[in-house]
Amino acid sequence: MKLETKVKINNLLMKNLLYGIFHGGNNPLLRPILFPVVEKGIWLALKNVPGPVGLPGVIQDKFYMLRAMVYSGIRFGTTSKFTDTIISKAILSNLRAEKEKEFREKFGFDPPGFMTISPAKKCNLRCKGCYANSASEKDQLPYDIFSRVIKEMRELWGARFVVISGGEPMMYKWNNKTIVDIFKENPDSLFLMYTNGSLINEEKAKIFGELGNVTPAVSVEGLKETTEQRRGKGFFERIVNTLKLLKKYRVTYGISITATRDNAEEIVSDEFIDFYFNELGAAYAWVFHYMPIGRDIAPELIPTPEQRVMLWRKSWEIVRDKKIMYADFWNHGPVSDGCISAGRPGGYFYIDWQANVYPCVFFPYAAGNIKEIYENGGNLNDLINLPLNKKIREWQFKYWKEGDLLRPCPIRDHYMMAKSFVLETNARPADEAADKILKDPDYEKKMLEYDTELAKKTSQIWEMVYRNGSRKAI
Ligand code: SF4
Repeated sequence: MKLETKVKINNLLMKNLLYGIFHGGNNPLLRPILFPVVEKGIWLALKNVPGPVGLPGVIQDKFYMLRAMVYSGIRFGTTSKFTDTIISKAILSNLRAEKEKEFREKFGFDPPGFMTISPAKKCNLRCKGCYANSASEKDQLPYDIFSRVIKEMRELWGARFVVISGGEPMMYKWNNKTIVDIFKENPDSLFLMYTNGSLINEEKAKIFGELGNVTPAVSVEGLKETTEQRRGKGFFERIVNTLKLLKKYRVTYGISITATRDNAEEIVSDEFIDFYFNELGAAYAWVFHYMPIGRDIAPELIPTPEQRVMLWRKSWEIVRDKKIMYADFWNHGPVSDGCISAGRPGGYFYIDWQANVYPCVFFPYAAGNIKEIYENGGNLNDLINLPLNKKIREWQFKYWKEGDLLRPCPIRDHYMMAKSFVLETNARPADEAADKILKDPDYEKKMLEYDTELAKKTSQIWEMVYRNGSRKAI
């Protein structure tokens, strides 16, 4: 059977299966029948379409993560509207299959799957070290460009998943249009919005619940003390109130965490997991390891290579044993078949408040600018072959065959290579700090030490767990 047909059959199977599960999973009488069917369905789908890497341990990781995702949806009691947005419209729609074909004929590979957009740099908080502290009113993406990008993602790629980041997206305002207008005008797109949570009041939570196409991921740094150390006294209660409001209006929400050398142990502790998932009922967590970019660059805050391996181990215990969707952006490279930047198949680009386009949120060198592309008569497809994006994708495709996906990140785990791509393609630094680190031997030395140490630590795990599929003794 052709791979394309297999993908279509799998999508159809998954779609119906997930519908049944999400709607029937809350019924305790149906669970013993449904759950084994779900697990079997996921396993079969992955075995039939193993993805470009397809190693035994990679398939296992994908299985555990997808299963946790389904169980998290059931535990949260995801609404029909939200389920419908995810399954029928945003993720498994037929539109995607059609557009994939058109795109493949033109570019030779599948289109990107989503886009991350930071429409506003400004924020209502003044957290330590955050770039948004210095934002001006002008640092905002014009509404017509914002809307057009979302429309073109749908038309050119069949992609309807949009990640909104910041600054604080709830602060965005352009000629009386806000982020809520974007959600309302695109009912068939799914929006994952990273937010500090402080501007989501009862009215907004109710609107999000009614719309059913928004899932806020609220930032936390850990439990009360750690969160308030960075965000200020009294802030923890505000976050907890926001999460309760979201729960009240049945808005599927998650948490987002920046892992640092200081909080690495806390964010995988039983206490932390119990509090956010069992007590407050979060549906998922996204973990981003501190990246030394932006203002107040501090490489010493990156979790150490030892902590990174500890986070890998613990995060899989949470996903596998507790069946909680706890996604670690760097450590779970095997789930996404490695780096998802630079518009690779199913991957993404990042657009900031000045319409600059980057391969990734954490790659502070712009490949181009979408406003300029539009002014010159182009469209979103013109991002694909910008020199920096092309270079990174060539590396990604090669890395699928040779690489260790526990070190998927060009800019963090292969710093010298990423730097050479930036210099060769004349990519534009996002800010003064990004320019400065390109010329800073000390920064380079620290990144190199980190990369070398990490490679030593992960290579054994990669061989044993991923190539051989054996988790024993790890
Ligand atoms: S560049 Fe790094 S952080 Fe960005 S998608 Fe790739 S692996 Fe992830």
